[in-house]
Amino acid sequence: MSTEPAASTLARPRTRPAWHVATVAETRRETPTAVRLVLDVPTWPGSEAGAHLDLRLTAPDGYQASRSYSVAASTPAAPGSPGQVVLAVDEVPDGEVSPFLVRDVRPGDQLELHGPLGAFFVWRPGQSTRPVQLVAGGSGVVPLYAMAAAHAAAADETPFRLLYSVRTPDDVWFADELAALAGPTLALDLVYTRRAPEGTADVVGRLTRESFAARVLPAAERPRVYVCGSTGFVETVAGWLQELGHAAGDIHTERFGGLT
Ligand SMILES: Cc1cc2nc3c(=O)[nH]c(=O)nc-3n(C[C@H](O)[C@H](O)[C@H](O)COP(=O)(O)OP(=O)(O)OC[C@H]3O[C@@H](n4cnc5c(N)ncnc54)[C@H](O)[C@@H]3O)c2cc1C
Repeated sequence: MSTEPAASTLARPRTRPAWHVATVAETRRETPTAVRLVLDVPTWPGSEAGAHLDLRLTAPDGYQASRSYSVAASTPAAPGSPGQVVLAVDEVPDGEVSPFLVRDVRPGDQLELHGPLGAFFVWRPGQSTRPVQLVAGGSGVVPLYAMAAAHAAAADETPFRLLYSVRTPDDVWFADELAALAGPTLALDLVYTRRAPEGTADVVGRLTRESFAARVLPAAERPRVYVCGSTGFVETVAGWLQELGHAAGDIHTERFGGLT
């Protein structure tokens, strides 16, 4: 008997995330500089909390540009109903792709998505009973919001904390959703770097190593830590975590680009 695989097996591509055609169902202002995009995706298989995808735009002359975006929420396609993917995009001044997504995309427009992608920066219900510390800077909250929402939806009892650094109260992404999650299932700690909510005594300013250490779970509790934001934010926070005694293997990072 031959051990050669059949020609059809050789010709079959390995299973890999597919390209999907998405139709914009809704656009909503998220913050003064960011927009939320709700996309209908008839072939979307669903995604784990923390996953991302590649979004591709094609110009009329055929020029293409793609960028990665984290999935804030998604539901898989089912017979008779398309899947849905929620993204949130911040406008990077002079950027190639994000200004178009924030300013020009309208309901009915079509975009191409490749994914879901990313197996390392995900949180799965029941994965571990160790506490989870999430640390977000600005737009970096997107995959961490997905994790917090999945944690609540699964009624998972793992302690969850989110330390979220934003410039002002107007810059909080998923503000209503995070406020609804905050409480027994999510310890939410907002840090304002430029302006705090009126009438509060919150200290305004960037996190320092000392203020960070006072606000996150200590290394002795062996939390699994997920950090997401600009490259500069993530590298600073990851450095502090290691100095505070967190094992490198417990620190999961996702860098969105940019320095601040
Ligand atoms: C895994 C992953 C997930 C991501 N998820 C999100 C998300 O959910 N929401 C979101 O808004 N962005 C997200 N990003 C960032 C996104 O992929 C783009 O980098 C961003 O939208 C800028 O693209 P652009 O084409 O407008 O800018 P570009 O034309 O690529 O860059 C223009 C200039 O801006 C700088 N720059 C690039 N990215 C950033 C940034 N994030 N902050 C500041 N400066 C930057 C570049 O170095 C360059 O100087 C993610 C990135 C990765 C790798």
